[in-house]
Amino acid sequence: MISYALSTVQQIFYSDLACEALTKTYSPSDANDWSVDDSSVLYGLGQWGDNYFSINKKGHISVSPKGKGHECLDLMDLVQALESRNLKLPLLIRFDDILEDRLTRLHKAFEKAIKHYKYQGEYQGVFPVKCNQHRHVVEELMTCGHRWNFGLEAGSKAELLIALSLIDNPKALLICNGYKDQRYIETTILARQLGRQPIVVIEQANEVERIIQASRNIGAAPLIGIRAKLSSRSSGRWGNSIGATAKFGLSIPEILTTIKQLRNANLLNDLRLLHFHVGSQINDIAILKDALQEAGQIYIELTRLGAPMQYLDVGGGLGVDYDGSQTATEASTNYSLQNYANDVVATIKESCESNDIQVPTLVSESGRAIASHFSVLVFNVLGRSVLPADIPSIKKNESLIVRNLRETLTFIQKIPKTSNIDSSQLQESWNDAIKFKEDALNAFRLGYLNLSERAIAEQLTWACAKVLVEHLPNCSHIPEDLKALRSTLAGTYFANLSIFRSAPDTWAIDQLFPIMPIHRLDEEPNQLGHFADLTCDSDGKLTRFINNGQIKPLLELHELKANEQYVIGMFLGGAYQEVMGNLHNLFGSTNSVHLRLTTDGGYNLDHVVRGNTKADVLEAMEHNPKTLLERLRIASEEAIQRGSLKIGDAQRLMDHLETSLRQSTYLHE
Ligand code: PLP
Repeated sequence: MISYALSTVQQIFYSDLACEALTKTYSPSDANDWSVDDSSVLYGLGQWGDNYFSINKKGHISVSPKGKGHECLDLMDLVQALESRNLKLPLLIRFDDILEDRLTRLHKAFEKAIKHYKYQGEYQGVFPVKCNQHRHVVEELMTCGHRWNFGLEAGSKAELLIALSLIDNPKALLICNGYKDQRYIETTILARQLGRQPIVVIEQANEVERIIQASRNIGAAPLIGIRAKLSSRSSGRWGNSIGATAKFGLSIPEILTTIKQLRNANLLNDLRLLHFHVGSQINDIAILKDALQEAGQIYIELTRLGAPMQYLDVGGGLGVDYDGSQTATEASTNYSLQNYANDVVATIKESCESNDIQVPTLVSESGRAIASHFSVLVFNVLGRSVLPADIPSIKKNESLIVRNLRETLTFIQKIPKTSNIDSSQLQESWNDAIKFKEDALNAFRLGYLNLSERAIAEQLTWACAKVLVEHLPNCSHIPEDLKALRSTLAGTYFANLSIFRSAPDTWAIDQLFPIMPIHRLDEEPNQLGHFADLTCDSDGKLTRFINNGQIKPLLELHELKANEQYVIGMFLGGAYQEVMGNLHNLFGSTNSVHLRLTTDGGYNLDHVVRGNTKADVLEAMEHNPKTLLERLRIASEEAIQRGSLKIGDAQRLMDHLETSLRQSTYLHE
């Protein structure tokens, strides 16, 4: 393994603790022999890639959908092949083999734990449909999960419909969560008669009466579960999913009342499941252990109260290590999948055995951990903007303000590049530069400076900033003002996507995803930048990047090359993103493809789902594309009559509009 070496640019921009340590290994000669291993370390691929993603000799991301040691695909080559089939970027590539592998890993972990702890019960998982409701995703999970009787969890009536029709295995569970009205409950009772295994989970106290009523109406009972509102501690973004004020679940007094009501209605015999959910993305395994102990005791008490309990459903929450740091931070987890399975199995076994109660079938509702890895969002960069910081050549008779700025720049350039620079000296020079820039602006407003002189003044100010920032790694203390200069000088890369459509959690809840170029990884990324999306919303940016347990505001990127695409991948976004995405600025869904490896090392495009056209998104807002076109046709006819538009140009305009309606909402060359 090579030692990690940062380029000069990276040294300039990162002086936070993590990076300071790394800069120490830098020596200028390292910068010339950048290798794919350097990129792998820089972007943390070995940590978050979970053996699905690596870098090949060509400097491209390589995807091993079945895990390490199996066939792999060159992601950049794949993107080019898809583009040649008119599947343009941005593109969502779904690797169904990864989905299957996630499911296999989950079941193997539980099988191993069950064997290790000699657990006398089974594990039977379900997939929470809300995590990714796309038909191909749910169908794929049902097909490859059949061998484990893998089921589904529904959180609404529409999801119930999906689950009822897609589960064709009578042994698979259908966990019915969410708010329930009479029709929802009656449907589950009838579905039980259909040969499915729906379990209606009581999440609100008022659902008990509805269940009793529905059972009377139909003359049959549903399988019943209770969701407990645990009191164990929690943490993280979804920590308020438990505790007294949680939205869902019954408190202990409510559980006792429910038992009485069910007994009186002769339905206690149908109570089979206890469910809890401590929140998505559990970062700290200790939280889960506490919850399991509390739930284990409730399960035992329910059995003692006469319910023929069968299942303990530990909900979702199995986390994804988005930054690969293996820490209890928000973008990571301090446990592995195997630790998780071990804790569930061991804790419940201990609780039940010490109370002489038969252990339950263990159910989990993992969504994120199953669906995150399998889809990769790939987008291209449309351009880059940087502040003009080149030093302009000296002109005759320059104004005093411009000369002042030149002097300030020369002064900063002459500061020796030794260690332990006094930062107050830098701060003073920057204050001078800012003062002169303001003078230039005032002089321009009053007409004493012309446009090109103002441009020179601005360029000189940014040139001062650039040289100042180069000195920062040699300062022991960096004033906040100067720290902010780093981001100001970094480049903005314009991304052909809408984060509100394709990565909404980055905006809504500051979720971090691994983001990196998918090619040119054998080249040193000697620029720093962030991404701005296509929407005209200033929030439409990606400005937080993974950094081994920390967050960095800028990502190492490459200089753009003329006539060559620069393609970026956003990884681990298969859960929740597409479903939560919205039509902000009317950017619609991207093209997406589902592919499977073939035995000869190639791949099959199993499904291609074309993204929304402009006509689609307009219709979603109840505009009729034909009416819009007709109005414009009439307007161009009038312009032709007035003589302001030629007939040929009017036709050209209508052609553009008509073609555009049939095309994707994103930009294409
Ligand atoms: N089950 C329930 C009841 C949930 O509310 C959620 C999501 O928060 C899940 C399962 C899925 O959680 P995760 O995606 O963290 O596995």
